[in-house]
Amino acid sequence: MMFTEEGVLPVKKLEPSIRQVATHMTSDTYVGAIDQGTTGTRFMVFDHDGRVVTSAYEQHEQIYPEPGWVEHDAMEIWERTQQVVRDALANGGIDAEQLEAIGITNQRETTLIWDRESGTPVHNAIVWQDRRTTDRVEELEAEGKVEDLRRKTGLEADAYFSATKAEWLLDNADPIKTQRARPADLRERAADGELCFGTIDTWLIYNLTGNHITDVTNASRTMLYDIHDLEWDEDLLEEFSVPEAMLPEVRPSSDEEFYGHTDPTDFLGAAVPVAGALGDQQAALFGQTCFDPGDAKNTYGTGSFFLTNTGEDAVESDNGLLTTIGFQYSGEPVQYALEGAIFVTGSAIEWLEDVGMIDDAAETEDLARSVDSTDGVYLVPAFTGMGAPHWDGRARGAIVGMTRGTRREHIVRATLESIAYQTRDVAEAMEADTGLEITSLEVDGGAVKNNFLCQQQADIIGAQIVRPDVDETTALGSAYAAGLAVGYWSDLEELRENWQVDRTFEPDEASDTEDNYEQWLRAVERSLSWAQEDS
Ligand code: ADP
Repeated sequence: MMFTEEGVLPVKKLEPSIRQVATHMTSDTYVGAIDQGTTGTRFMVFDHDGRVVTSAYEQHEQIYPEPGWVEHDAMEIWERTQQVVRDALANGGIDAEQLEAIGITNQRETTLIWDRESGTPVHNAIVWQDRRTTDRVEELEAEGKVEDLRRKTGLEADAYFSATKAEWLLDNADPIKTQRARPADLRERAADGELCFGTIDTWLIYNLTGNHITDVTNASRTMLYDIHDLEWDEDLLEEFSVPEAMLPEVRPSSDEEFYGHTDPTDFLGAAVPVAGALGDQQAALFGQTCFDPGDAKNTYGTGSFFLTNTGEDAVESDNGLLTTIGFQYSGEPVQYALEGAIFVTGSAIEWLEDVGMIDDAAETEDLARSVDSTDGVYLVPAFTGMGAPHWDGRARGAIVGMTRGTRREHIVRATLESIAYQTRDVAEAMEADTGLEITSLEVDGGAVKNNFLCQQQADIIGAQIVRPDVDETTALGSAYAAGLAVGYWSDLEELRENWQVDRTFEPDEASDTEDNYEQWLRAVERSLSWAQEDS
């Protein structure tokens, strides 16, 4: 648990007995998880103790047609997915029949449209990072539609989410690419149910099972879904001219009715239930066993995502956080989460590599420790604007406080500290929205290998940082969702027992972080609203 006080959030524990479905042989059977991320696809096979038995990973191409645009070839993603599933099973000497279920976790918001009959995408998928629809979002702001949108979807109006991406695709994808004799307007074909809209979970479920389904956590990131009424919102569909006939059916994240089975005559050669799906950040929340209101985790990858479980209460944020769906089991109410999405954290380390300040990310730990402080230097990595809690698309990166004595080590240290400061910005917003104090935070993601960062994080937010043993919490979360649905795991207690601490970082009371944090906020001020109209 991360908060000290009880009471503000309704604490309703999920009934473990509800999950008891069947007794299965578990010694030689497993659950597989497809983790389809921004840079690549991983398939991991977990045993009953939540240990990784085998895995395989493949990257896919990042396509940048214009500055600020990012696309993926969805067919390539599907091919890579099949390949990693086959490779992992072959490497581990496991037959597809030994998989009791498959779960999916995915890069969120990335949007595509395909032909329902042929399964051919009409255009590359538009990736979550893509900024091409920023003007459209500014139009919504100018028309005063942002509040209504936030109320229904829990989201901040931003090009990040799927709605404006779907609208762009319907306006701009080339109808000829659908390879149909009738070059009808895409929107017309969509209204006739000939096209399918989907996020990456939907695309994979469709290819694995033939069914057009999304899970409720992914639906909650489209900016088309009412997270309170739990349905596609007619007004929003109209606003973005997205025909309802092209939308997937929304199902629980852990679904006892299954999304479908893999086709035994297809690549896997077995009929395995596909029974769980969660957006990657929600999957990490689940994999970290943050099952109860108040439980929270922060994932440090390319960007960082701080999620707090708020139970059945969809807490509205007054402080720039998103309200989103955390997970849902079959037949139970949805669990909500508050989310702080920080766009640039690990990718600031990648930038250090790109400009030649470091050779690899791991080096940052020793370089940062080689100096006592940043010597007054602050780096604000607002390369693509700032997300939570500032939400300023026109913010740009800044390094302030440099003197003639500033060295590479100071800048490297300031970059690592910027990750921890941005997390504090979000942690303050979480505390303000929930009225509770953070005392402990569970962390995961590629950058938490860095012990300096973890210790700085503990000092800067004044809370314990807890790093678990399994760092693949995202894949594990989706395996848990699928495994619970088929009864491979019988209850949440079993999952909690699998969770082990690797290391805990205690905050250093003596550190002078308060003054430094004030300086950080001054540095942020300087980076806000920087870009001009046309940049
Ligand atoms: P994603 O899932 O977003 O692709 P990962 O969880 O794999 O990301 O984390 C990769 C990120 O972590 C990269 O941006 C990389 O720069 C950063 N990273 C990896 N190792 C370290 C390290 N030792 N110190 C700081 N950052 C690191």
